[in-house]
Amino acid sequence: MPDRQRLTQTLIELIRIDSPTGEEDAIDAHLSSRLANLGAAIRHDDYGNLVATLPGTNGADSQTPVMLSAHMDTVEPGRGINPSLDPDGETLRSDGTTILGGDCKAGLAIVLEGLTSAVEEGSPRRPVQVVFSRAEEGGLNGARNLDFSLVQATTGLVFDGEGPVSRICVGAPAQNIVQANITGVAAHAGLEPENGVSALLVAANILTRLPLGRIDEETTSNIGLLQGGLKRNIVPEHAYLDGELRSRNQSKLENYTAEFRRAFDQVAAMYPQANIDLNIWSQYRAYSVPQDHPALQQISRCVSDAGLKPATETTGGGSDANVFFEHGIAALPVGIGVRDFHTTRETANLSEIFDAARVCQAFVGIQ
Ligand SMILES: [Zn+2]
Repeated sequence: MPDRQRLTQTLIELIRIDSPTGEEDAIDAHLSSRLANLGAAIRHDDYGNLVATLPGTNGADSQTPVMLSAHMDTVEPGRGINPSLDPDGETLRSDGTTILGGDCKAGLAIVLEGLTSAVEEGSPRRPVQVVFSRAEEGGLNGARNLDFSLVQATTGLVFDGEGPVSRICVGAPAQNIVQANITGVAAHAGLEPENGVSALLVAANILTRLPLGRIDEETTSNIGLLQGGLKRNIVPEHAYLDGELRSRNQSKLENYTAEFRRAFDQVAAMYPQANIDLNIWSQYRAYSVPQDHPALQQISRCVSDAGLKPATETTGGGSDANVFFEHGIAALPVGIGVRDFHTTRETANLSEIFDAARVCQAFVGIQ
């Protein structure tokens, strides 16, 4: 059985180690030594992702490893975090000037405690591969650069979801990134505006032709950034657009991507003197898991055994799980007892985190 007090202490310790994206070395060193103490073989790929392999016990039926994953980085403001516990002894929060970093320190702590408890008890367990990624926030860059030759697991848990561990994410969208650099023609706005082509006007024309917002139940799109121009009295020569398209349905994503391209082409035809350099690429692909998927059934069983009611859901956001699925690993995100991710109001619920550690331990014990 996981030790709630030890788990809480681990979590607070991890929260106090700053790890904004790109600065994961300190937390990596801490996690590596904790995992090595449990008997795991520690490896790092070229990107710096941590892959730790813990052998199974002799009594285990299956020697195919299972994966336990979380990410080491946090968003900002995430430096000098000062966590405190509410009088109820349940809720951990920051002092309000930073995030708490429960995303994803709770996930890391859950994995450490689940494994520590499993090793202590010595009950039969499968080999485990712990994958702690870097730079998940802002593009899943760690997972996308993960050396998958180090990973033999084909199923797993990703500890990175909001709410209780009973929330199992069975579907997530694909995301395409949309970026465009528009070059018009600069001209003095008072002396010779007729000689100019406004890049901002070109961009505005494009914006009005794009399907934006919630396109349908499983498809969304957004242009989140429009930059351009130089000065009040110059017809703007440059504009830059940065946006995205997401859908849980890969073919819809492709159709709307084609519609985006057509809109850019139409406007390019209207402004022959302007140059539009459009780039659209896939950031990650969608996944969807049917109810009878063996990985989902295993996870659901562990959640039920912990006395909780499994609840499957789909999300509008991507996670490392998208990349794992792309590489044939059915690793499903579950809740880590944290709420209000990426805000200074972020909280972590210690009972829910404890439940997640129990589910984690049960999962590695499954035959
Ligand atoms: Zn996260």
